[in-house]
Amino acid sequence: MIYNSTRDRSVRLTSTEAILKGLSDEGGLFVPEEIPSFSRSLIKLSKLDYKELAFEVMYPYLDDFTEAELRSCIENAYGDSFDMPDIAPLTYADGVYYLELYHGPTIAFKDMALQILPHLMTTAARKNNVRNDIVILTATSGDTGKAAMAGFADVPHTRIMVFFPHGGVSDVQRLQMVTQTGSNVSVVSVDGNFDDCQSGVKRIFGDKAFRKELEEKGCQLSSANSINIGRLVPQIVYYVYAYCNLLRNEKIKEGESINICVPTGNFGNILAAYLAKKMGLPVKRLICASNKNNVLTDFFKSGTYDRNRDFHLTMSPSMDILISSNLERLIYFISGCDDKATAHLMSSLASDGSYTITEDMKKGLSDFMAGFATEDETASEIRRVYDNTGYIIDTHTGVASAVYRALSGNAGSCPVVIASTASPYKFAGSIVEAISPDIKTADRSGMDMIDELEKLTDMPEPKAVSDIKKARIRHDRHIPADKMKEAVREFLL
Ligand SMILES: *Cc1c(COP(=O)(O)O)cnc(C)c1O
Repeated sequence: MIYNSTRDRSVRLTSTEAILKGLSDEGGLFVPEEIPSFSRSLIKLSKLDYKELAFEVMYPYLDDFTEAELRSCIENAYGDSFDMPDIAPLTYADGVYYLELYHGPTIAFKDMALQILPHLMTTAARKNNVRNDIVILTATSGDTGKAAMAGFADVPHTRIMVFFPHGGVSDVQRLQMVTQTGSNVSVVSVDGNFDDCQSGVKRIFGDKAFRKELEEKGCQLSSANSINIGRLVPQIVYYVYAYCNLLRNEKIKEGESINICVPTGNFGNILAAYLAKKMGLPVKRLICASNKNNVLTDFFKSGTYDRNRDFHLTMSPSMDILISSNLERLIYFISGCDDKATAHLMSSLASDGSYTITEDMKKGLSDFMAGFATEDETASEIRRVYDNTGYIIDTHTGVASAVYRALSGNAGSCPVVIASTASPYKFAGSIVEAISPDIKTADRSGMDMIDELEKLTDMPEPKAVSDIKKARIRHDRHIPADKMKEAVREFLL
């Protein structure tokens, strides 16, 4: 399997090279030159457990790993750190299937990829004779930083440093991060917002002299964010697994189509579902669900992507994004793998904040439907599902569920799988408010809300939550935004 850059097709890398590099030099993302099909029929695949299926789905994309290497990465990733033996269970509630992707150590779906990425990366480093330590720098608005640390903590020859906005993450998210153990991790809060953290990290990546200084000390920078192909490929697995689960339990017949609905931010999770479809999974429509930051809804309706608009903070913060980086890969595919056209559109996004695709490219969007849910619609959907079934979905999943209800009339009457991306315990305050409007949440802490949530459900408090209640705070550094590079230097050198 060869990986090309979306902005330059003459770039040709193996999968291990693409994983180590993250982003191509001219700014493009790596894409597989061909999308493989399944190794066996879905009926046969439906007999496999999660790890066996993960191997079958991922191997064609990662074929410069040996079979034994990939199996060992999978074995290390999808084991005891998940609190469900089947890793990604499906729960039927009120006519739809929720694909629960939050049973990993940080109770959000980022674990599905970030539990395996460190293993893929260290194996890739060894195969490419990298002698340096791999240093992961991550800016986070909450979920990614913790999931990345949980994955990289104490992995030999790696170090990880996370920057989060001071005062800009939820109580649970902050406690999860500042209690992180591991001799190779560092967490720092930054005076500023998420964008300041993100720009700071980008500046460090772009600082050639500093990178050289690190290199001389045996360190090389890498990135764990969702544009890395090593995060995208593991995410294809659970869509296939969900379909196989429905087949195995005779909820659908072989060849029968399903719809898939995904709460979307950076467009990584839904792009994995698109790849599953292109591999041959019978999917009728991919439904792209957004919150009030509905830049993607407008794009799918009009063919124009325009980030020049107000940014809204919502109760689904992991979807509060105006630049969905992974959309670039879809643009490349629907342009017929036209690197020049993709580069042109992306440079227009960088200079004007917008671009418009051609009529021909619009045809490629027919795999998708899109919609958005307001804060009120999301809260009422969470309450409606709870009132009807007693099942509790988180605020991100609530967006997807609301959007699906609104569009389902047009989506065809097939079974739907809704990606459920976080445990409700991670956003307990908003959930309690949605379900019991008379409980006053205003002046109460996130930890308090967890106790309220526990009273409403028979879903036990996840280990990730009980752990932070008793954990010791290990990281209390707080720095100005212009001191990030010094913080990296101190940590590493
Ligand atoms: C990251 C995240 C999303 C958005 O996923 P993308 O791959 O960025 O589209 C949705 N829900 C939760 C809980 C997340 O952490």
